[in-house]
Amino acid sequence: MKKPFSEETVVSNFIRSIINEDNRTGKWHGRVETRFPPEPNGYLHIGHAKSICLNFGIAKEYNGACHLRFDDTNPEKEAQEFVDAICDNVQWLGFDWGEHLYFSSDYFDQLYMFAEYLITQGKAYVDSQTAEEIREWRGTLTIPGKNSPYRDRPAEENLDLLRRMKSGEFAEGTHVLRARIDMSSPNINMRDPVIYRIRYAHHQRTGNKWCIYPMYDYTHCISDALENITHSLCTLEFEDHRPLYDWVLDQLQDKLPCHPQQIEFARLNLTYTVMSKRKLIELVEQKLVDGWDDPRLSTLAGVRRRGYTPHSIHMFAERIGVSKADSWIDMSVLEDCLREDLNEQAPRRIAILKPLKLIIDNYPDDQEEDCFAPNHPQKPEWDKRTVTFTKVLYIEQDDFMEEPVKGFFRLKPGGEVRLRYAYIVKCVQIEKNAQGDIVAIHCIYDPDTKSGTDAAANRKIKGNIHWLSAKHAQTAEIRLYDRLFTDPYPDSGDKDYKNALNPNSKTITHAYIEPELHNAEPGQCFQFERNGYFIADTADSQPGKPVFNRAVTLRDSWEKTAKQAV
Ligand code: ATP
Ligand code: MG
Repeated sequence: MKKPFSEETVVSNFIRSIINEDNRTGKWHGRVETRFPPEPNGYLHIGHAKSICLNFGIAKEYNGACHLRFDDTNPEKEAQEFVDAICDNVQWLGFDWGEHLYFSSDYFDQLYMFAEYLITQGKAYVDSQTAEEIREWRGTLTIPGKNSPYRDRPAEENLDLLRRMKSGEFAEGTHVLRARIDMSSPNINMRDPVIYRIRYAHHQRTGNKWCIYPMYDYTHCISDALENITHSLCTLEFEDHRPLYDWVLDQLQDKLPCHPQQIEFARLNLTYTVMSKRKLIELVEQKLVDGWDDPRLSTLAGVRRRGYTPHSIHMFAERIGVSKADSWIDMSVLEDCLREDLNEQAPRRIAILKPLKLIIDNYPDDQEEDCFAPNHPQKPEWDKRTVTFTKVLYIEQDDFMEEPVKGFFRLKPGGEVRLRYAYIVKCVQIEKNAQGDIVAIHCIYDPDTKSGTDAAANRKIKGNIHWLSAKHAQTAEIRLYDRLFTDPYPDSGDKDYKNALNPNSKTITHAYIEPELHNAEPGQCFQFERNGYFIADTADSQPGKPVFNRAVTLRDSWEKTAKQAV
């Protein structure tokens, strides 16, 4: 069995090794400062959670700080709505950026000053080629690029043009500012990358002050340096951009407080889901899911609504670790973390998802009897609750088989079963309607078998099923969620992930629940005995009118049932 998270020793990883080595050599004088730099152009997903846990986690571990920095250099796609949602997600995960909340747009003035400086040093120039020409002249992996005819403009002319770009004299696409590096570099990122472009766009923070906006590669490294970041952790696709990161900082070394180290790690790929923002937006906009917080989505808003706890996500991040090699993590790893956490935390309750009436013929009509069910089988200190037993009960349809298969130990004609926390009953008759459907099971009970009594202890019986009193049970809407895709790699290769949508990913049913559950507070989690872990929906549930989402089943039966269905 896996150890509970609290006992899990922190496994070392290559990032911790780098920091330990830096601390040993005194490179940063023991300082560790990281940042999580989302672009506010969409909602965060579980992949971002890996990066959040890593950046904030490392900072905490080394008594450092982690900054939350919004990389807001694409005004057309960005919005305050996303800023707010991202802040909320990070806080929900239990992290605190303290005073370190930043926006790249706060640095626009400095970034611009540095651009003028680069021009004066002969390290940047205004290019007046069209976007098309720039692309063509950049070359390919096998063909070196060609110098732009504007590459050798004198500094004064470049400065003049940049200032006029800034003051709004030129149309979009007419000029760009490029770093002057090396058009024949084997690394295409180093072939005079564009660092500023003209955009007449309203920026959510700087309004209409700017009509030129800096590019990500130029902005990111300078923002890191201005904030005194020590270790700039990013995903592997930026490995080829590292020479540019270092080049920009080297040119500006006299102007910046430090030169952070970029360190790349493998991004999270999770089976049975898609994580790119573009695809998530498509799913939402084409109404293939019910909004950003649809419990089937891998967005943090979605997994939170599904019932995931911050602790389960921390466990997950620690368990998958960080490495330099791209790999796929199976969805069941994430689900197991939630099971383990909720197994500890969630009180047990009873819900009957597919009810079948069970009538105890020899039980007095109006009698009511208290039975006592533990709130958590391993935590006696959580006490027991009362569940009322009566003549007419509901059990799960699946707990009865008229023609039992071999090895079926629950209720069958002539067979006996224990009604959990109550009595042993024997099935004596099946009641059917005119169509031949079973409408009720008739049983007789043995009064000497009540759970908790000495007599009961002597009667061993294999089947043990849950039930609710028909008179006392309340009803609730239940949303049974399953994986959103039937294909573990829905968007690999040139596949259209929309073809792999699981038609059964959401099933709405009505269930009988214990009376107290009727007043569940939104966000409360329970284990419905034998049925899984459920959360009172945070959007649609209200005390008195509950809606429960199935967060995860009790066991991982997915691969098995999926195969059977084929
Ligand atoms: P997407 O590719 O999903 O659109 P993104 O990389 O464009 O995401 P950003 O807002 O730029 O999204 O990401 C913020 C941070 O989160 C970056 O440092 C990025 O490397 C990291 N990140 C994004 N996706 C993942 C992932 N799947 N696993 C780990 N880290 C990720
Ligand atoms: Mg990005």
